[in-house]
Amino acid sequence: MIKHMLCNNCGYDMCGAEYIANTVDSSLAKEGPIYSNNVLLEMNTRPYSEIICPHCKNTGSWTT
Ligand SMILES: [Zn+2]
Repeated sequence: MIKHMLCNNCGYDMCGAEYIANTVDSSLAKEGPIYSNNVLLEMNTRPYSEIICPHCKNTGSWTT
């Protein structure tokens, strides 16, 4: 299942690699045991309120 989310401001559909690049803070993942990708994604995902739309630069307005 591919996660994605829709910008409420411009309708931009962010998914796949771009979704991960914008939602996951990899700096949080340097220490600790090895997790599956899904667990890692859940643990390191930023709150939606902090995610900026790459298209319209609106912040924190997403539908998932
Ligand atoms: Zn947008």
